[in-house]
Amino acid sequence: MPTYEEARSIILESVAPLGAERVETGRALGRTLAEDVVAPWPLPLCDNSAMDGYAVRADDCRGPARLRITGYLPAGGTASVGVGPGCAVKIMTGAPIPPGCDAVIPFEETSVADDHVVVKAQVTVRQHIRFRAEDVREGDLVLPEGTPLRPPEISMLASLGKAFVPVYRTVRVAVLSTGDELIELGEPPSPGMIVNSNSVAVAAAVRETGAESLLLGIARDDPESHAEKISEGLKADALVTTAGVSAGDRDLVREVLAQSGVVSRFWRVGIKPGGPTAFGTKDGVPVFSLPGNPVSALITFEVFVRPALLRMMGRKRVLRPPVKATLAGEVRKKPGKVHFLRVGIEVRGGEYIASSAGDQNTGILRTMVLADAIAVLPADKTVFAAGERVDVLLLGETLR
Ligand code: AMP
Ligand code: MG
Repeated sequence: MPTYEEARSIILESVAPLGAERVETGRALGRTLAEDVVAPWPLPLCDNSAMDGYAVRADDCRGPARLRITGYLPAGGTASVGVGPGCAVKIMTGAPIPPGCDAVIPFEETSVADDHVVVKAQVTVRQHIRFRAEDVREGDLVLPEGTPLRPPEISMLASLGKAFVPVYRTVRVAVLSTGDELIELGEPPSPGMIVNSNSVAVAAAVRETGAESLLLGIARDDPESHAEKISEGLKADALVTTAGVSAGDRDLVREVLAQSGVVSRFWRVGIKPGGPTAFGTKDGVPVFSLPGNPVSALITFEVFVRPALLRMMGRKRVLRPPVKATLAGEVRKKPGKVHFLRVGIEVRGGEYIASSAGDQNTGILRTMVLADAIAVLPADKTVFAAGERVDVLLLGETLR
């Protein structure tokens, strides 16, 4: 039985980016660059003003200065005419610096009388000028392949005139629930029946990674129903199944996956919850068999499926950023397995404080709802004192 880390390594070594496509830069948010981006021109493209004010020759402003205003340069204007000694040009932020000028004096540091400007403050050479190429030089490798595209990267691409951008393909993930006890969302449950929440929950988790979800519905607890749905699922880029993967006599998922040509890479992992998780591949298509319990399904998705999908979409760094939190109370566990503890997070004095989000029984979905994070408790340790710092996986972009 692999450890948590071994299982994750097996998964991450089994998946690779799917290929690239070109998309409009305005629609590339969240995607990952599939090629290096080199600057076709410098930024800024020319020396320009960083302030609204007057473009001057700093030499003219060594002492008290009174300069003749000989022109006006709005943003978007052309600096065709130079500025002679004793002269100034009124200039707006972003306008090109006219020839001869080497400083800009902000309006606030001047007064104007007739067609002259009186300089009230000290002027240093190069002040308030943004110089050509001070940000990016022509030919610079600005964004390497593998960069996740956030608003700043979108801004950089657009500034460099890239209307289209090569990104890795998104992953189409088939989602299959299994079990005779399941009814579809919308039907009223009778005792003994359970609403198929996993399909929509896993699909939501899929979309949260930026991948596309494809709902296959429910496979009933017979081999034919499983085989039919699984063969459909294997046409996607990845397949995620829930339930039917334990050791029950109607747990058919592994058997039918094997008959469908999926090569098993592991079954059972040293984690709790999520122990019965299985993973395999067929012709490069990863197949994640998650436990049926809704809490276990979401936690195993978080720790195994999410990193894999991100890697398939070109990400280099696929794990949640490492974060430590201080335990508010003592936690005890049995040795041998990594435990995932659902915790709420509070911020006190700039520190994360983690408290159990409730009953940690895997049947308690409510505790998952109340969790901001999952604390990862190492396999060998059994007692975690109040005040001890533990690794946590922060689940959302904000705390609840
Ligand atoms: P199994 O792994 O098939 O033994 O299922 C474990 C538990 O998860 C059982 O209580 C199931 O009823 C429940 N379960 C399985 N599939 C789903 C699903 N799609 N939605 C919600 N609960 C499920
Ligand atoms: Mg079942």
